[in-house]
Amino acid sequence: MTRILLLGGTGDALRIARQLDSTHVYSLAGLGKVPDDLACAVRVGGFGGSEGMAQYIADERISMVIDATHPYAAQISANAAHASRAAHVPCWALRRPAWQPQAGDDWRMVGNWNELTAALAPFRKPLFTLGREPLAHLDEIPVHQFWTVRCLDPHQDATRARIIATRGPFTLEGERALFALQAFDVVVSKNSGGGATEAKLEVARERRLPVVMLRRPDLPAVDREFDSVDDLLDALRVLA
Ligand code: NAP
Repeated sequence: MTRILLLGGTGDALRIARQLDSTHVYSLAGLGKVPDDLACAVRVGGFGGSEGMAQYIADERISMVIDATHPYAAQISANAAHASRAAHVPCWALRRPAWQPQAGDDWRMVGNWNELTAALAPFRKPLFTLGREPLAHLDEIPVHQFWTVRCLDPHQDATRARIIATRGPFTLEGERALFALQAFDVVVSKNSGGGATEAKLEVARERRLPVVMLRRPDLPAVDREFDSVDDLLDALRVLA
């Protein structure tokens, strides 16, 4: 009998978790909401690196790992690939396809925080949609800039920054209203892919705003990769 360890923390992972019965385990880092209505077991918190995960796989008699974490959660994906190899169990991964620029889009690709701030230098009103990282840099905001930082974590506004603590999905109407009200002149984004947070790119396109895009990290090769939840669920049904 297959016993799955599903690594999550994304809406896609939750969709998969909803299809798993009590044989299986859904694992979360513990940063966001923990669902309490799943048939499968839910565990919360780190494993203690790839060695800790390999030990967990052995202790809990896990026979397959599914990595459905966020495309920028590179550490847990590396740990999953390494631990499942060490524990001799297969590792599947959901690798959400990246968004692609469309005709007329002005995407400025950056690889790290220094490149990102350099790319932002000509602008005054960036909207950050990268998660919590900008919160660590609120005392470094250039005098000509006012930042809006949208992330999960509640945080006090700063002299030249407004923090919007909220979670997606975000609608096109909602994004249009926000952009119209705040008059951003650039959007800062990860290339997360998927539909839940894509509307900001469409509004940036409508308003001809540049997008400073953080490049995706490299992710490890695994036994099988899927680019949609439906394909992954179909493959699981064949196993059952
Ligand atoms: P990360 O840098 O790859 O992982 C940091 C550490 O957090 C891992 O080494 C692991 O600790 C623990 N961890 C992460 N995901 C876990 C999981 N599903 N179950 C148990 N432990 C987990 O990850 P991150 O970028 O901080 O993201 C944390 C979580 O938020 C991920 O699960 C991800 O799916 C979700 N998320 C991330 C983003 C993003 O932009 N990065 C966006 C949306 C959701 P140990 O080494 O101790 O095992």
